[in-house]
Amino acid sequence: MRNLGRAPRLHLDGPLARGAVVELGADRVHQLRHVLRLAPGAPVRLFNAESGEWWAELTRLDRRGGEARIVDRLRPPEPAIGPRLAIAPIRPNRLDWLIEKAVELGVGAVDLVLTQRTVVRPARIDRLLAIAVEAAEQCERLSVPPIGGPTELEVWLAGLPPGTRVVVADEEGGEPPLAALGRISDAILLVGPEGGFAPGERRRLAESPGIVRVGLGRRILRSETAALFLLVAHALAREEVRPSCP
Ligand code: SAM
Repeated sequence: MRNLGRAPRLHLDGPLARGAVVELGADRVHQLRHVLRLAPGAPVRLFNAESGEWWAELTRLDRRGGEARIVDRLRPPEPAIGPRLAIAPIRPNRLDWLIEKAVELGVGAVDLVLTQRTVVRPARIDRLLAIAVEAAEQCERLSVPPIGGPTELEVWLAGLPPGTRVVVADEEGGEPPLAALGRISDAILLVGPEGGFAPGERRRLAESPGIVRVGLGRRILRSETAALFLLVAHALAREEVRPSCP
């Protein structure tokens, strides 16, 4: 099989199968033609969570669009198993950064949750999804996490299935994160806004069954830092990190 290590990875929704010819959208064609300077015949890697990753050859790249013919499968589908992260919208540049890092750290889904102290107008979901796709292409993931919301905290909590466990990062302290996340495998991770949870929200969270508060040390972390801390703690607690080389 050709050395495909440097062939660009393109996330493409829909079934991918040997011999199929797939359309490439105009935004992709611009990237392939004018940024990567590729021409028909060049290899690309097409992927999504449901079909896995496939080697394809570009068959057409022009002003009308592009096509690729799928040659062979490189990787089987993998279930997206990362944790769901719920975070109050923070400043756009910081949220962009957090989405990219959360994808690299294996987040399974992101929910934008509006709290009383959310001061930032929620970002456009399509823009955040584009960042998530680019991060998935770069870090060799097969899945792109869905990004939902923004939803009011109260509505979000009420919409959780009974028995759902939520691990809340609380700057006023709580359990150690590794212990909590080691005990609760399918926890949703919740982080507050730049101004923290309001007193009424704290009471509401404290009353909610299935909520576990975790402390991330004595320093006050930015929301995005706290979110990454939880994602790393989740990976360590679930031992999903690659064993160190012998
Ligand atoms: N209330 C403070 C404020 O007004 O700046 C802190 C808010 S903090 C910047 C944003 C969020 O990050 C908090 O709501 C909490 O979820 C999380 N967080 C920050 N530091 C934390 C810590 N040491 N332990 C646990 N969670 C923390």
